[in-house]
Amino acid sequence: MDFKDLEVWFVTGAQLLYGGDAVIAVDSHSTQIVKGLNDAGALPVKVVYKGTANSSAEVEKIFKDANNNTKCIGIVTWMHTFSPAKMWIKGLQNSRKPLLHLHTQFNKEIPWSEIDMDFMNLNQSAHGDREFGHIVSRMRKNRKVVVGHWSDPKVQDRIAVWQRVAAAWADAQNMTIIRFGDNMNNVAVTDGDKLEAEIRLGYHCDYYGIGDLAEYQAKVTDGDIDALVAEYDKKYIVADNCKKGTANYNQVREAARIETALRRFLKDKGAKAFTTNFNALHDVNQLFGLACQRLMAEGYGFGAEGDWKTAALLRTMWVMAKGLPGGTSFLEDYTYHFKGEKSAILQSHMLEVSPEITAQKPRLEVHPLGIGGKADPARLVFTAHPGTGIAATIVDMGNRFRMIVNNVDVIEPEAALPKLPVASALWIPQPNLEIGAAAWILAGGTHHTSFSYALTNEYMEDYADIADIELVTIDKNTTVNSFKFELKVNEVYYLLNKSLI
Ligand code: MN
Repeated sequence: MDFKDLEVWFVTGAQLLYGGDAVIAVDSHSTQIVKGLNDAGALPVKVVYKGTANSSAEVEKIFKDANNNTKCIGIVTWMHTFSPAKMWIKGLQNSRKPLLHLHTQFNKEIPWSEIDMDFMNLNQSAHGDREFGHIVSRMRKNRKVVVGHWSDPKVQDRIAVWQRVAAAWADAQNMTIIRFGDNMNNVAVTDGDKLEAEIRLGYHCDYYGIGDLAEYQAKVTDGDIDALVAEYDKKYIVADNCKKGTANYNQVREAARIETALRRFLKDKGAKAFTTNFNALHDVNQLFGLACQRLMAEGYGFGAEGDWKTAALLRTMWVMAKGLPGGTSFLEDYTYHFKGEKSAILQSHMLEVSPEITAQKPRLEVHPLGIGGKADPARLVFTAHPGTGIAATIVDMGNRFRMIVNNVDVIEPEAALPKLPVASALWIPQPNLEIGAAAWILAGGTHHTSFSYALTNEYMEDYADIADIELVTIDKNTTVNSFKFELKVNEVYYLLNKSLI
């Protein structure tokens, strides 16, 4: 997944009413805008200008070409002059790529002393884009509308967000999620309709027995293990009782064996995400903690206990955030710290937290694990750094997928946690624990989340629009009363709007 291999197409709506010269000027302005957007350096994905569209047939051809072009992850539209919007109907009916409507104008300011009717006819996006907007709304098509001058860094940042989301969406359309074992028995929230998830979100789940991984494990050589253990030595603070010649050294080597086997397995299957189940380990020495942590940091989605939806969402959020400061990780709501307005949730898991979310050099340790009945697993231990982020999840409500997003403030723990043998993050959900946790529970949110420091609500909003799924956000403005109302309104919306079910 490399943003450099992708493109978004830029299409300018125009018409021939004002003569050939006007279209030539529009074309020149569009070329300059696209060059300006690309040269600014703010966009991760190249913008490719596809010319002016002056008729229904031209619009339709561009949308159909976009559908068949694997590099094209989305279309940006802009109406330079008045573009009668009936000519966009057939194109929009064929539209299958994410759409961004850039409501801009070539000229930044009104040239007060020079302006005449010719200038106005050439710079009339203010009403041309409204005409276009009407037909997109009339056809109930989701799109992002970005308003402002194209040279404004704020405008470019909003386009960049959408590009990253569109890239993650394209990535998800052929996402294979490997599941070792099934979901943990009797657990409800991690389960869901895999068929509907593939139809709507692109997620494809394949099942493998842990024995399939054991076969890969058998082919790992001592040399492979030596190389990986040497890498651990360099990157982490290895606990004294895990070093060569000590009691736990062999468990570190077994962890390296599993990691090597797992990475090869995922690569051979073309998988982008995977799940584990601590109850189904059989021929594997230990629950794979260290391998999950390191593979997450490489961009593999991960969900524990068979949680394929979180695994997939984590991969998607990792792609959105690729190259941005801040990390992304699987986390689980574990333990509360009740302390008035500073009440917080300790986030952790049995082992599997990505080292992307810490500023510390992780410690490599081996400790017993009370469940699963296997040998002591290796893991990286650290504390997440303070900062703001978002925690997200997708749940299956029976007639639709609901994405829940909560803004959270990660804080420094009051004291060290010397006896906690796993990585952790301490956060206060916005607006506070009392309201944040109540709203999350009312929405039916998971105990597993996909967390990111790098992403903002705008990313998740763009994603939910493209995927056409329900989105509820819990942030500093949330009240329980208004949130309940939103859930009820959404219930009616999805019951009435059968096309979204
Ligand atoms: Mn769990």
